[in-house]
Amino acid sequence: MKPTIKTSRRDFILTGSLGAGALLLGSALSSLAAQEPDKKLGIALVGLGGYSSGQLAPALQHTKNCYLAGIVTGTPAKAEDWSKKYNIPQKNIYNYKNFDEIANNKDIDIVYVVLPVAMHKEYTIRAARAGKHVICEKPMALNANDCREMIAACKDANKLLSIGYRLHFEPHNQEVMRLGQKQIFGKVTKIDTGNGFTYNGDPNAWRLKKALSGGGALMDMGVYSIQGSRYTLGQEPIAVKATQEKTRPDFFKEVDETIFWELKFPGGAKVTGKSSYNNDWSYLHVEAEKGKFALEPAFGYSGLDGTINGKPMNVPNNIQQAAQMDDFANCVTLNKQSRVPGEEGLKDMKVVDAIYRSLDSGKWEEIV
Ligand code: NAD
Repeated sequence: MKPTIKTSRRDFILTGSLGAGALLLGSALSSLAAQEPDKKLGIALVGLGGYSSGQLAPALQHTKNCYLAGIVTGTPAKAEDWSKKYNIPQKNIYNYKNFDEIANNKDIDIVYVVLPVAMHKEYTIRAARAGKHVICEKPMALNANDCREMIAACKDANKLLSIGYRLHFEPHNQEVMRLGQKQIFGKVTKIDTGNGFTYNGDPNAWRLKKALSGGGALMDMGVYSIQGSRYTLGQEPIAVKATQEKTRPDFFKEVDETIFWELKFPGGAKVTGKSSYNNDWSYLHVEAEKGKFALEPAFGYSGLDGTINGKPMNVPNNIQQAAQMDDFANCVTLNKQSRVPGEEGLKDMKVVDAIYRSLDSGKWEEIV
């Protein structure tokens, strides 16, 4: 934790003239201080790959409630580069072997796990046991049972856990949540959503190895479409039926390429979704009783766009990751659950597990 230049209540009391007016103002500031953190919390990023270097570290240059205090990496050259670039002191740099020593580091309040999916559980649990609050990237874990273990471990350690669900802090997606959940155009009757990109990267990358990724485009991209349907309706799905297609079986030897699904929700809306490593999709189309709204692109880092009954949605783009991390830092300061806690990651992984079961059985599968 490091102090910011923001005037704290203590500074005010020490420097203010102690007349009756100052005391009144002092008590007004005291209630402000209860809502807003006046210290920046320290975040340590674990895993300095594409997402940490391309998105999270740059976003941490725009955060108000937290800052990039430390890093965990297995590559000494990266440690040196990051240390210089972001002014990270040597004592706040860890590797995967000495990671648990982070317990003794007062500069680090939050550990952010940005590793291949198979490593999320281990590092989330180790971070919580080291006394740190945790943000874990999506998809939360290899399966729902691992998510349950992670939630339990953070509860046992009395630490907060949040998932890197940046879109819950993004204005277009927030507008869709409002329109759908508040039934501004009546009940939502139909949703169609897809997320994917054409994967032409390294054939040896962890994303293509089932043991490290847990699966392919469904785990990586499909979770956005699944949660998009859930937060449009504000309901939890009860069953799913899925099919898949593989046009490049040599490349996607171990993991899924394209999956199509239909979700059954208690309110009866017709909900279809798809994920792919072979199609460039990013959309969320919603029909309600008295109107329709849509996002396209819906799920990227920037440049999102939307319409309401065919007219522009007119909401701004933001730095999603900065908003997401600032919100979690605020939750830590106020000791309150994030709007995207571990339980939210678990809900998506229960759907993912049921989709894989449906691919095996060829039938509708309950989401349990
Ligand atoms: P990446 O491959 O670019 O980086 C992975 C990092 O993990 C690398 O620094 C690598 O050195 C390290 N690592 C440690 N042990 C490893 C091992 N055994 N095998 C492979 N790498 C190992 O991946 P990424 O794109 O940065 O993704 C990391 C996590 O972030 C994933 O969970 C991914 O789903 C998530 N992610 C989230 C978003 C988002 O928008 N929220 C976007 C991209 C990635």
